[in-house]
Amino acid sequence: MSDIRQPRLTRRGFFKAAGLAAAAGAGAPVLGSLTPAVRSAKAADPGFTSHYSACDMCFNKCGVIARVQEGVVTKLDPNPKFLKSRGMLCARGNAGIAQLYDSDRLKYPLLRTGKRGEGRWKRIPWDEALDMAAERMQEVRSKYTPCGMLFTAGADLQSQFVSRFAEVFGSYNITSHESLCLLSNNRAYLDTFGETPYADVLNSRYIIMAGANRFEALVTPDSMDMMTALRSGCKLVVLDPRHTKTAALASEWHPIRPGTDMAFMLAVAHVIIAEKLYDEEWIREKTYGLEQLAGHVRPYTPQWAEQECGIPAQDIARMARELAAAAPAAMVYPGRRTSDYSNSTQIRRSFAIVNALLGNWDKPGGLLAARAVGLKGVPYDAPWYDENPFERVDAGIVPGLFEHDGSFVLTREAVLSAEPYPLKGWFVYKTNPMVNAPDRARTIEMCNAMDFMVVVDIAMSDTACMADLVLPAPGYLERQDPASGLQGSSACACVVQRDPVVPALYESRPVFEIVKELAGRLDLAEYFDFTIEEYRAKQLADLPDAPQALERDGVYYNPSKVYGIYEDRIYKTFSHKIELYNQRYESMGLDPMPVYTPPAAAPQGRFRLIIGRNACVTHGSTNNNALIHELVPENTLWIHPQSATPLGIRDGDMVEVSSPAGKGTIKAEVTERIRPDCVYMLTGFGTISDGLSRIKGVGASIAALLEGHYDSVSGNAAMHETFVSVSGRAS
Ligand code: SF4
Repeated sequence: MSDIRQPRLTRRGFFKAAGLAAAAGAGAPVLGSLTPAVRSAKAADPGFTSHYSACDMCFNKCGVIARVQEGVVTKLDPNPKFLKSRGMLCARGNAGIAQLYDSDRLKYPLLRTGKRGEGRWKRIPWDEALDMAAERMQEVRSKYTPCGMLFTAGADLQSQFVSRFAEVFGSYNITSHESLCLLSNNRAYLDTFGETPYADVLNSRYIIMAGANRFEALVTPDSMDMMTALRSGCKLVVLDPRHTKTAALASEWHPIRPGTDMAFMLAVAHVIIAEKLYDEEWIREKTYGLEQLAGHVRPYTPQWAEQECGIPAQDIARMARELAAAAPAAMVYPGRRTSDYSNSTQIRRSFAIVNALLGNWDKPGGLLAARAVGLKGVPYDAPWYDENPFERVDAGIVPGLFEHDGSFVLTREAVLSAEPYPLKGWFVYKTNPMVNAPDRARTIEMCNAMDFMVVVDIAMSDTACMADLVLPAPGYLERQDPASGLQGSSACACVVQRDPVVPALYESRPVFEIVKELAGRLDLAEYFDFTIEEYRAKQLADLPDAPQALERDGVYYNPSKVYGIYEDRIYKTFSHKIELYNQRYESMGLDPMPVYTPPAAAPQGRFRLIIGRNACVTHGSTNNNALIHELVPENTLWIHPQSATPLGIRDGDMVEVSSPAGKGTIKAEVTERIRPDCVYMLTGFGTISDGLSRIKGVGASIAALLEGHYDSVSGNAAMHETFVSVSGRAS
């Protein structure tokens, strides 16, 4: 096996990367031993001040204390009172300073002067930029109805203002990043338990993790809790075609054949039912459809599953018994990015059904319902536009579309066909489908089909470089943000908010201000006639202790119930019970229980491309960060020696990878840590924007290679359905 090569990050590299050499020379606070006391720290050490914030380098929003010296953020520390992150800031979190002081940041509004994507821009004043954006959006609205504008925003504390703006502007066409991530999992759990669960990893005694990589794709607190749970004797079983770092730390790793997780889970359900390993009272009182499920899984024996997934039958049966013995302090881990297969919702339904059978729900060590956080919504009445079409542009294609998230892949196809109606304007905030969505060539066509495209972001992402107008946003350390409720495991039902740690750099302006300005120009000012402070006051109206706690601790915890939430509550499902058998699916013509279909076999000479993360990379948003770049300068193509050798490929060779969607050049990493029928690459590389000085053209792009498949229930992208060929190239 070959090691992943990672250069050492030097102290000098840290300062150079973060643009902090001067601050470092000024004294010890940058790397010195700091006690995490906030504000009062000023008295103890007058050399710096401390400020609470919440990290924004990924969706987790871990608690941060920013140390500021002479107006410069010189250090980020974890907030020890922020239980969700368990006293941790990951590498990306620490690299937040490098994002703040990045020389690649957008500094002022830019108007495209060359062809789309050519990288030729002209600096313009904010007033001109806002006037133009409002005018062009109004043109789209007049010509194509308000629904002619598409709005897309990433997972950010200010994204709610983009949705509000879209709705008052009059468009239902809003897509979130989620349809490239976890909607199939959400769909599956909503249609089984009536809500999406959190995992009580800390108290679990047995975890089967399939299609998740929690020691690399970090989810706080789960990633941290898993280490604690393992030390306390929890057994972790990983099913993954790759020997990930999670697999390396697990009790067992099974290199499952990709796309066959459902076969494994149906066989587990078969054993649980055949051997009556469930709690009869639980099944009778809480679930619907055991009888139908028993008949359904009868043919799905462990011996049958072995032929499909490659895991020996006796191991499947043993794991089913071990899981049942540990239940209810046990779980099939629900996962997060489940945008993998065209039947991902049904795959995840099979996970949910095993959890339901064993009662791994609403009890210590199992899956948990969302706790009450207590944050209030700030409602508004969006105007009615008679001219609008009846529904979203991507409606009616899949039965389980999420109305507020949509499907990026289906929306893109609607843009390109102009059916059922034209979408000709695109407002994008802090998300990057050119890098994250499959089939980049189609996304480029989508951009080219737009009359007007405006992107608000902190850097010139690949998506920004396709726009007509690019507006610079501040990073999270420069912003005032609304309050946000966070969930995650037993300890975490909390509220966070952000205030600026330092003033916004350059001419950057938060998206709240941008949409407020645009609303004013579009006669919609009444919908944004508030400040963020006023907005927060409404959000916190039912939490009288919250403002003081946020000031004192940087976080507010609602002491709400953790377990037994459903003791006196009915399930939000059709039967008002946990649905092993889903009648609503049946009425819609869907399989009411997951029916196994073998995944497509790889065509001769091709490999299934699987994609993923490591702990330093948040899709495409951190790859160009100077600090992270030192840790992860490029992506590589994992390929098994049995596959590489016949192709004449050696470790470190440059290879060409191609699919029906596109191609890329990348360094081969010949390793036994992947099945011979797959190849793997990390996300976020192979970028095209000139504004990403460290990674432009480095490595290969998953977006360029993946075909635009989607999940047939939720419309979530299906990113593990592409087969690629690999050929050697001279270095
Ligand atoms: S996991 Fe890392 S990047 Fe994500 S919010 Fe936490 S510290 Fe920041």
